[in-house]
Amino acid sequence: MSDASNVPVPHMTPEQFRQHGHEVVDWIADYWSRIGQFPVRSQVAPGDVRAALPERAPEEGEPLSAVLADLDRVVVPGLTHWQHPGFFGYFPANTSGPSVLGDLVSAGLGVQGMSWVTSPAATELEQHVMDWFADLLGLPASFRSTGSGGGVVQDSSSGANLVALLAALHRSSTGATVRHGVEPDRATVYVSSETHSSMEKAVRVAGLGSDAVRIVEVDGDLAMRPAALAARLERDVARGFRPVLVCATVGTTSTTAVDPLAELGPICQKYGVWLHVDAAYAGVSGIVPELRELQAGVEWADSYTTDAHKWLLTGFDATLFWVADRAALTGALAILPEYLRNAATDAGAVVDFRDWQVPLGRRFRALKLWFVLRWYGAEGLRAHIRSHVAMAQELARWADADERFDVVAPHPLSLVCLRPRWADGVEADVATMTLLERLNDGGEVFLTHTNVGGTPVLRVAVGSPATTPAHVERLWALLRENHDFLAEDFAAAAAERARAQQPTEQPAGDEPAAATANG
Ligand SMILES: *Cc1c(COP(=O)(O)O)cnc(C)c1O
Repeated sequence: MSDASNVPVPHMTPEQFRQHGHEVVDWIADYWSRIGQFPVRSQVAPGDVRAALPERAPEEGEPLSAVLADLDRVVVPGLTHWQHPGFFGYFPANTSGPSVLGDLVSAGLGVQGMSWVTSPAATELEQHVMDWFADLLGLPASFRSTGSGGGVVQDSSSGANLVALLAALHRSSTGATVRHGVEPDRATVYVSSETHSSMEKAVRVAGLGSDAVRIVEVDGDLAMRPAALAARLERDVARGFRPVLVCATVGTTSTTAVDPLAELGPICQKYGVWLHVDAAYAGVSGIVPELRELQAGVEWADSYTTDAHKWLLTGFDATLFWVADRAALTGALAILPEYLRNAATDAGAVVDFRDWQVPLGRRFRALKLWFVLRWYGAEGLRAHIRSHVAMAQELARWADADERFDVVAPHPLSLVCLRPRWADGVEADVATMTLLERLNDGGEVFLTHTNVGGTPVLRVAVGSPATTPAHVERLWALLRENHDFLAEDFAAAAAERARAQQPTEQPAGDEPAAATANG
């Protein structure tokens, strides 16, 4: 052994950890206290963050104070502040004090919950919390661990969509996929144009290829048409295809459209197709009884996913995923190498969650969900959802009553899609995207866009825990101010363009129309 093997390892002692841990918690608390002062969207240019970092990794350890200083100097300017009260983009990515603390405990324990025996509390707390959530969200009894199915925390709804497809493939081939693989030429999967892209990605990952995807027509509210699904299933079966899975969405990413589960369910049952419900964003709203009607028919679902890490005050990653028949899931994914064998598993007395997911290893994610549930209580979580829905509905009422904006698509929850109105002749799509950029450049708010009916619309997703009615009022003021500012500019440009196109109608002596004036 060389002398180098005698160099002491500079571990952080528990006492040092206590001290620095307090500093880090203080840093996070300070960040949350001052978050409203930052521009919501990061203003750095590509490469700025890396340019502020040394070229080589440190050879010698450094004091933690140096790292904290660089958090402020390098990292914070490169952040878009998702917890900012002016964040209205995408869907929210909530976090909260109890979630962070639960995650901290999980990190400190550092256990692997892949099998029951590797840390029984990790599995049993997760089973219990998932049963609590199934109850709170009004999900079917078959989803409980006491029924034929059960719940498990997945890394993301994208991952849950893949796992659901693997279970559906397993069931539809009566298990043959495990030994012989899939028959990619015959399996088909049904989505709508509004289904999240992760479902098609799952189809590709599963080896079916994008040709297996059938896009079912939607109605005027962007919800899947049951009759169109039935017609496609009938045609595919007649042509020798094997329909495997229908993905229905409750709360589409673009506009929160809701596919009619109660009508799709019986069709899926008739054809023996797995009904997967992707309720990634909207599903957690089921905790509020008066919003549960959106998910009527959920008892038809073979599997269901919703993200506590979007709108339910729990930090990423915390996807709540249930199946009605756990045997289909574990049939597709269970594999038991010798080194993982143990008496509890062999006796069939326990659940091993590694058989419910793609990776082997798993974090103790139930802790943060447990901390959140116990801190807020179901009533606290209901208040959170209700307050956001109320703010979004108020914004929709203001916009409905204002001649500058149209509210497009139904808005049952906390997402409102707005199409600005522009004068005749204005390049409306360009004007709308310019309005979006002006709002986001301003730094007070951040929103994103989507496409409805072939044109861009502004998406306002109320969902940051810090957002109050005053912030939504401010957003509404900014929307109107910036619309007024641009409407004048764009109308002038349109008039100029119109003059340029009709030179013969110009009164004599007028300036020659400048073709380039509009840029
Ligand atoms: C956000 C979203 C997803 C993806 O969720 P992740 O948990 O981020 O993978 C899937 N489906 C829908 C409908 C979504 O809105």
